[in-house]
Amino acid sequence: MTTYVYDFHQGNRDLKDLLGGKGANLAEMTNMGLPVPPGFTITTEACREYLAHGAEPAALRDEVGEHLRALERAMGKRLGQADDPLLVSVRSGAKFSMPGMMDTVLNIGLSDDSVSGLARQSGSPRFAWDSYRRLLAMFGKTVLGVDGELFDEALDAAKKSRGTGNDLDLDDADLRKLVKTFKEIVRDRTGRDFPQDPREQLDLAVRAVFDSWNGERARLYRRQERIPADLGTAVNVVAMVFGNLGMDSGTGVAFTRDPGSGEQGIYGDYLQNAQGEDVVAGIRNTLPLTALESIDPPAHTQLLSIMGTLEEHYRDLCDIEFTIERNKLWMLQTRVGKRTAGAAFRIAVQLVDQGLISMDEAVTRVSGAQLAQLMFPRFGPAGQAEKIAQGMNASPGAAVGQVVFDSDRAVELAAGGIPVILVRRETNPDDLNGMIVAQGVLTSRGGKTSHAAVVARGMGRTCVCGAEEIDVDTRARRAIVPGGIVLQEGDVISIDGSSGAVYLGEVPVVSSPVVRYFEGDLAADGSDPLVDAVHRIIVHADQVRRLGVRANADTAEDAGRARRFGAAGIGLCRTEHMFLGERRQLVERLILADGDEARDAALAALLPLQRDDFVSIFTAMDGLPVTVRLIDPPLHEFLADLTELSVKVGVAMATGQPVAEEDVVVLEAVRRLHEQNPMLGLRGVRLGLLIPGLFALQVRAIAEAAVICRQAGGDPHPEIMVPLVGAVQELEVVREQAEGVLREVAAETGVDVPALIGTMIEVPRAALTAGQIAEAAQFFSFGTNDLTQMGWGFSRDDVESSFFSRYLDLGIFGVSPFESLDIDGVGRLVRLAVEEGRATRPDIKLGVCGEHGGDPDSVHFFHQVGLDYVSCSPFRVPVARLEAGRAAILGRVG
Ligand code: ADP
Ligand code: MG
Ligand code: MG
Repeated sequence: MTTYVYDFHQGNRDLKDLLGGKGANLAEMTNMGLPVPPGFTITTEACREYLAHGAEPAALRDEVGEHLRALERAMGKRLGQADDPLLVSVRSGAKFSMPGMMDTVLNIGLSDDSVSGLARQSGSPRFAWDSYRRLLAMFGKTVLGVDGELFDEALDAAKKSRGTGNDLDLDDADLRKLVKTFKEIVRDRTGRDFPQDPREQLDLAVRAVFDSWNGERARLYRRQERIPADLGTAVNVVAMVFGNLGMDSGTGVAFTRDPGSGEQGIYGDYLQNAQGEDVVAGIRNTLPLTALESIDPPAHTQLLSIMGTLEEHYRDLCDIEFTIERNKLWMLQTRVGKRTAGAAFRIAVQLVDQGLISMDEAVTRVSGAQLAQLMFPRFGPAGQAEKIAQGMNASPGAAVGQVVFDSDRAVELAAGGIPVILVRRETNPDDLNGMIVAQGVLTSRGGKTSHAAVVARGMGRTCVCGAEEIDVDTRARRAIVPGGIVLQEGDVISIDGSSGAVYLGEVPVVSSPVVRYFEGDLAADGSDPLVDAVHRIIVHADQVRRLGVRANADTAEDAGRARRFGAAGIGLCRTEHMFLGERRQLVERLILADGDEARDAALAALLPLQRDDFVSIFTAMDGLPVTVRLIDPPLHEFLADLTELSVKVGVAMATGQPVAEEDVVVLEAVRRLHEQNPMLGLRGVRLGLLIPGLFALQVRAIAEAAVICRQAGGDPHPEIMVPLVGAVQELEVVREQAEGVLREVAAETGVDVPALIGTMIEVPRAALTAGQIAEAAQFFSFGTNDLTQMGWGFSRDDVESSFFSRYLDLGIFGVSPFESLDIDGVGRLVRLAVEEGRATRPDIKLGVCGEHGGDPDSVHFFHQVGLDYVSCSPFRVPVARLEAGRAAILGRVG
């Protein structure tokens, strides 16, 4: 038979699934011999059954009865006993802490009879009536569904008629009157009297706590924190102890270290003559915990000693709730406490130094997400700036700049050294240029998976999205914000990507010391404890990780930063931007070339430019591998826009103006190259096979650049990567050509720089035939962005704004598969390709170069599946290093 109720002596901290966090830790403290009031826990299983069937399991009533009798025996009084009542609290407590999201009722067992008994027993009628009015309000609100404000208003009125704002000034007569009022409110609102039978109170309160699992607050919180909706809550029934018995009593909350900064030393608040939530509800000003030292020295000493015991026992920062009843200390709750990212790092190494945990464990106590948070610049105090709107905190960081409403203008201003914030209704792929040069991006539409948000996060760019109060009028180049303020181009705003706040004016920004450390500008020399902590943890992660970390970098500048951030090479150097800007004309000539000669001339003009690009990148990554991806995107991306050009030519013809010969030729080419689904069209290796000489040009530029570096005394390690291969035959053709070019360059220069030739695995067919493809490839690099697009059959740019948020709401994705690898589906393709690729070629090098390479969960998967390295944006390199270390340690344990 199932057991639905556990005495505190029967549980322990590992039973969180069943007893909830609060119950499990109350049991743990009980068994540690700490002063916990006795009680018992009704399991989450009972709650789940109740929620499923709309009724408590039949056996629950008797089981609660038995445990209640045991509690009554232990306390020497019965629940609600008229002359000396036992009172209990009925407290929610789920597996994961959901602070304040569910309900708790205190002082269960009080009634018109027992309130007098309590007054006599305690010698304080004021206390008895204070407890009763609290029960009525809490029970009325939580259990009977009465609007809580009615009680608050009545309390305020009572204080007012006393001419005071302080609840302590109400005497027993006032409180007795208040009880009468509260009872009337209950009768008035529910059509029944407050139940006087203590067992009925208890049962109704338990049911209300069960129900509070599905309260609106709780549901919202769960969704945000990704807590499963079907866990249910446990219910803890705890003998009451009273902090409202006078000034020698009180209640408080405390942390064993500062959860904000990680500073060592206790931290907390205390309130005399108070009960329950009073401390956090702000009804009176609380005292700092240190004040307890003079108020009640023995209790203070005991509390400190218990906090020390808890830290040693849990080997972590704990937060606690306690109550002092007439100088006697009681522990009411503890848990491993939440903390900021900075505190997490500092506390982890403090615990190592105290001998409580190992360095391995310290690495698992922090996360890549926390490290990433520490790397964003942040705002200092807002100063003069005024907060004008609130959006979603889509990509953390603090950005200040002039408002611009389109990308071209952003590029223009940024080129002149002016910091800009790109303000758009929403962004689309055309805004990429603007996003790259902007300090930050602000949109009025779209959520955390909108284009702006995803792209900004990928770039490490600050972004606030979905600031719906802002009315962006792109055409008029202005935005109207609440309060009638009009933002014009050039106005300075500040956006906080960590909070979603938007300010008019400049909020001062302070750069992250952690980034200055990675840049090499700040040493871990004891001057900043946070930097020291990050240093120690990342160094240890590097020691234990198996997975290599490279960076995606297309320029020498990015390559340099990636290297300083700890990248062991470039996993993806894209070449298409090398064909943009002024060079676009050359590409246009190449595309329009009507014969071998014209084409060769166009290619020849591109060669030296490409070669220079590679020389600078190889130099920045001297001694380390650089994977260069041959050109990938469809050609039309290098030509003028179809619609624009058609309109231009059409208008000219209709109005009898002369039409430029060039426009006609280009238009024809654009039409010819136009594709319905460019993502699935003529791109990647297909392009290389169709346009003779294009890939050969790139391979030659790579080879010649490598020779130049070698001749200058360098040590280049080029790797040539062919995109979008779906069949080994494609790769074979390209490989043969490429090897020919490499041989030619070696013969011409007398210098032979070996280069690996490999392919991306980004088309599902490539993954499925990886065994064959490995015959021709010396390495694989998983392009998980395209593999995700093609695996799911949707194009990222189209779907993210159209239906992703709905899918997330429906729980079809827990998280966007572009953010975190879809392990069940796309991950399966990766696993298969790894196994079959290695079977064919045991020494094949395996890496990943999609954005997932910097995503913590995905990194763990890539570790498990046995890749050699992940590659991610330079800014994410430390995150990947840390997560690779964590994956190695956690993999050993699990
Ligand atoms: P939450 O999960 O929202 O913190 P709790 O169940 O911890 O809710 O209870 C709310 C408040 O009531 C807390 O301050 C807690 O310390 C206090 N409290 C709960 N049970 C008792 C009790 N048996 N005696 C005294 N105070 C209690
Ligand atoms: Mg609590
Ligand atoms: Mg791709």
